[in-house]
Amino acid sequence: MAKRHFATAVLLAGLLLLPFNGATSAPSGHVTADTPRHLTPDYPLDRDCSPLTSLFSSWDDVDGNKRDAPHTGVDGGRLGDAVLAPAPGEVIAVWHADWGWGPEGALMLRHTREELGLSDGPKIYYSEFDHLRYDEIARLRVGTRIKRGQVLAHVDRPGGDEEYLPEVHLEVWSIQDEGATQWDKNEHGGKYWVNETGHLIDPLYMMSLNASARRDHSVAITPFDATRDYTGFRGFTYFLPCPALKAKKR
Ligand SMILES: [Zn+2]
Repeated sequence: MAKRHFATAVLLAGLLLLPFNGATSAPSGHVTADTPRHLTPDYPLDRDCSPLTSLFSSWDDVDGNKRDAPHTGVDGGRLGDAVLAPAPGEVIAVWHADWGWGPEGALMLRHTREELGLSDGPKIYYSEFDHLRYDEIARLRVGTRIKRGQVLAHVDRPGGDEEYLPEVHLEVWSIQDEGATQWDKNEHGGKYWVNETGHLIDPLYMMSLNASARRDHSVAITPFDATRDYTGFRGFTYFLPCPALKAKKR
């Protein structure tokens, strides 16, 4: 769903910040606001990943409608799918949100650069999950440590309303000054936050960091695997399930 009307200016700032790779003609680390390059997911062929349904900065909503503003994150998931923590972190907010489609739950995790296996760039990242059921996430307390791949919630519908297609919205921010975060209520009575030092990041960019950049801007999705050792892994694993496809009989 198109979520935030105020985010357009911030989004454009975020696009300018996106460190797209040097394979493009644009100078490294710079992309003009009028020519955003969309990163696209490339799912492993031996998995049935629950798909993304709307990409970052897209004007197209999952239902075919045009958004009011470029998309501030990615949407995905099938009804009831587990929503997985894409990296280790800490719960910093659990709240009652309402973006105009009805009351729902929102969750924000904080990830340090070190937790993401990164040695440079911003020190703090926030990942926000929307369109959750508040009663499901109410158990998550601020300050709780979260492990990569931990089930945070399950995919629901915006506002829990059957009128809307199921999805979870994930958006990612780098935050320069955490003290600058301010909370307010919108016209629907839902809480929201702003931070003038925050920059939106394409969640797929966070999922691209463990591999070298591709010329076609596709991102090889890394499913979370509970048996894998993620020591040294950079960035995000996929935040939705990717069950293995059954091997073909010989
Ligand atoms: Zn969305």
